[in-house]
Amino acid sequence: MNGSKSASMQESLRICPVLCIVVPCFNEEAALEETAACLEACLSDLELKGSIAASSSIIFIDDGSTDATWTSIEAISWHSSRVQGIRLAHNSGHQNALLAGLEYADADAVITIDADLQDDVGAISEMVAAYCEGAEVVYGVRECRDTDTRFKRITAEGFYHCMRFLGVNVIFNHADFRLMSRRAITALLRYPEVNLFLRAMVPMLGFRSAIVTYSRSRRLVGESKYTPLRMLSFALTGITSFSLRPLRLITIVGFVVAAMAALVGLWAGVAALTGSASTPGWASLLLVISFLGGAQLFAIGVVGEYVGRIYLETKRRPRYEVEAFSGVAYNKVKLDRIRE
Ligand code: UDP
Ligand code: MG
Repeated sequence: MNGSKSASMQESLRICPVLCIVVPCFNEEAALEETAACLEACLSDLELKGSIAASSSIIFIDDGSTDATWTSIEAISWHSSRVQGIRLAHNSGHQNALLAGLEYADADAVITIDADLQDDVGAISEMVAAYCEGAEVVYGVRECRDTDTRFKRITAEGFYHCMRFLGVNVIFNHADFRLMSRRAITALLRYPEVNLFLRAMVPMLGFRSAIVTYSRSRRLVGESKYTPLRMLSFALTGITSFSLRPLRLITIVGFVVAAMAALVGLWAGVAALTGSASTPGWASLLLVISFLGGAQLFAIGVVGEYVGRIYLETKRRPRYEVEAFSGVAYNKVKLDRIRE
């Protein structure tokens, strides 16, 4: 009786949840005003329709920007009681900025969305609807990649296929535009790792989920903060945080090469004994030696990636540092946190 009562109470809470939208920003001064206006309009519209509670809010996380992003967030939050800002003391990376938002958001459900509004704000109402129907996580999934450059499309899709091949559960064409319920966030915050790769961590939680598809537009202002080198580092974090298969593949390749070497050795021995050995060519010898040298260096590099990440994990450094808050809605509890 008690159980069904609390279950129905939970269901009734979902009729009009408090929603928080978390927006990570790194040097996004050019995009912020429009983004804030667009998200505020979206929240007001949902509130009018009775889909979300009046206390729903937006948190901009300034990830250590070097331009006027923080000044802009402060100005927006002074004018709107819905908007709050958190400034991180240094650039901690997109994933850590998202985590800071998830930790500080005080809501029943939190949606994370990029500051450049490439993700479709119109999909937010569908996400909220899926949440009200019981989904703990709602993934925003891109319908197609025709607004990406050729390079980005090939590398991104190749990466999703590679992750699947390595046995990692990722949602194809889903990045970090998603809704998470309080329950899912609480579960996620129990993961203490510093090498964050949220798009694989969230599916790992295993809660009931739903998918909302949308078409992603081009970035209208500013530039992508993901340089090819950053993308590569992010991809390596994803692979090394979730799959041991590269290490196993190296073991298998090593075993196969050693077995082949043993067979060739056997053949050479027999040829020498039967007197049918011809003078060995230096070119083929050089080729084998340099190939194996390269393969060994590559293998050491892969092992090094894992060791490096273990090194970072063992340090247990904080994942981000908060420098300042802004916004009238910031209550005493949150101010106390910064003094701690
Ligand atoms: N971002 C961040 N910290 C960083 C890099 C990016 O908070 O170190 C934010 C950025 O401001 C944006 C989001 O992460 O809101 C996604 O970045 P971007 O749009 O540059 O990536 P892309 O869409 O090109 O993959
Ligand atoms: Mg973008």
